[in-house]
Amino acid sequence: KTTIAANFLRNIVADDLDSGKCQTIVTRFPPEPNGYLHIGHAKSICLNFGLARDFNGRCHLRFDDTNPAKEDVEYTESIKESVRWLGFDWGNHLYYASNYFDQLYDWAEYLIGAGKAYIDDQTADLIRVNRGTLTEPGAESPFRDRTVDENLDLFRRMRAGEFPDGAKVLRAKIDMASPNMNLRDPVIYRILHATHPHAGDKWCIYPMYDFAHGQSDALEGITHSICTLEFEDHKPLYEWFLENLPVPAKPRQYEFARLNLSYAVMSKRKLLQLVQDGDVSGWDDPRMPTLVGLRRRGYTPESIRSFCETIGVGRSDSWIDMSILEESVRSDLNERAPRAMAVLRPLKLVLDNYPEGAAEDFMVANHPQKPDLGSRTVPFCRELWIEQDDFMEEPVKGFKRLSPGMEVRLRNAYIIKCTHVVKDEKGTITEIHCSYDPDTKSGMPGSERKVKGVIHWVSAPHALTAEVRLYDRLFSVPNPSGDDWKSQINPNSVELLFGCKLEQSLATVEPETRFQFERNGYFCADRVDSAPGKPVFNRTVTLRDSWTK
Ligand code: ATP
Ligand code: MG
Ligand code: MG
Repeated sequence: KTTIAANFLRNIVADDLDSGKCQTIVTRFPPEPNGYLHIGHAKSICLNFGLARDFNGRCHLRFDDTNPAKEDVEYTESIKESVRWLGFDWGNHLYYASNYFDQLYDWAEYLIGAGKAYIDDQTADLIRVNRGTLTEPGAESPFRDRTVDENLDLFRRMRAGEFPDGAKVLRAKIDMASPNMNLRDPVIYRILHATHPHAGDKWCIYPMYDFAHGQSDALEGITHSICTLEFEDHKPLYEWFLENLPVPAKPRQYEFARLNLSYAVMSKRKLLQLVQDGDVSGWDDPRMPTLVGLRRRGYTPESIRSFCETIGVGRSDSWIDMSILEESVRSDLNERAPRAMAVLRPLKLVLDNYPEGAAEDFMVANHPQKPDLGSRTVPFCRELWIEQDDFMEEPVKGFKRLSPGMEVRLRNAYIIKCTHVVKDEKGTITEIHCSYDPDTKSGMPGSERKVKGVIHWVSAPHALTAEVRLYDRLFSVPNPSGDDWKSQINPNSVELLFGCKLEQSLATVEPETRFQFERNGYFCADRVDSAPGKPVFNRTVTLRDSWTK
């Protein structure tokens, strides 16, 4: 079992269990199905499901689907898949706020009957203006003192569809002078003639988030209702409803700081805009901070969980640097990903003294420290591919790789020496010619001989030509913001390479298989476009952090 860092919420839960305040803890993760989950949601998922797991409680998955205008079943399905992919299980505790619409409606009538809610005919604009400001009390609505009977009649007619959108709302009658704006007679029901993705056409009035959330918590017996800090000001309203309605339980709300990640945007509105404007290929573009995007990029669920554990849970807003997320997948894959050789920008190399037509197989360990990951055979012959930037005709000072007259080791194979190059009529190098030293085969006594550089290679006749996509951060500034936030997109966030040469063993990889391509970084076979026989790889992360060096 992973070690669990203490945080203030774990302490609260532990105390509540110790003191007997609750027998079992029940948390929930309540996404609105109006977009795909992102890494910020992962923080909330790990927190809520993690508490339930660590304290033998349960965590509900609840779709907070009170706004049919923006919601869609496409999102519902993807959210479920992402939560499962992250490694969490809601068992049979899947809920929809829309399943409580009947109960919420009855409770709205209950408030009306108690003289604590009224129908307001003011326009939305007028309601906003009349709420006042932080320094000025609001103005009471001229409709505030309607009788219970009149309010009930109007509310039922709202439900029956007699009025157009926006004609009337139901408001809680609390306090127009409250220093907390949320208590200034908040709107709790509005008219919206829209088909609901889950409830269908049954309703043309919908409860507002604040009227649905706490009551849903109460109906499900949630003990700890954990949300982000911007809901702190809503807490008095959350509690007002629980005190003024005959709810079956009294959940408590706790707030924590949301995750802000540098070099990314996380508001669903902005993510949707990137998708709609074609700045990315979709919600699952490997540069998106969505869970489907991170998955496609090659992130493992383990790396995201350990990231969430690393950043911890607190109550002060802060920014987490993207390098911390990247390091979480780098260190996970360093442990687990088998190694392979791939040449991304190939240059032909010919070993003139290697017999023509001959070939040999090297047995190569899949992981330098993990013998249990096994080994594979890698073919070797006279013609190889190496990286273009592993050769310099006129080496700069300190260049340790291949240049005329110099020796390097071919990883897992021999020491070679460059004898000459061949150029085309334009002067571009088309072939490097070398001699190899047969006594320096890896594992043989002669292999002890020290040379400065080691480079990777792929046997040319055996190589598999493949597409590799090099991804980098989507934004070039740490905090993309302002109206022109889109102008801060990193113009080099993706580079598509088509003629890459992969070692033969990669021919049959299944989508989502991950490797360290030696010296090049961590790569994952694309889960959409890759197929055995025709692999397409995405670079998940480089071997070292190249942004902060
Ligand atoms: P967005 O601002 O991206 O639209 P949201 O809060 O409206 O996010 P919801 O679907 O309502 O999205 O979020 C579901 C849960 O995930 C909520 O409990 C919310 O507090 C939590 N959550 C959303 N974003 C973050 C974040 N950046 N960090 C931590 N938790 C988050
Ligand atoms: Mg929300
Ligand atoms: Mg939102």
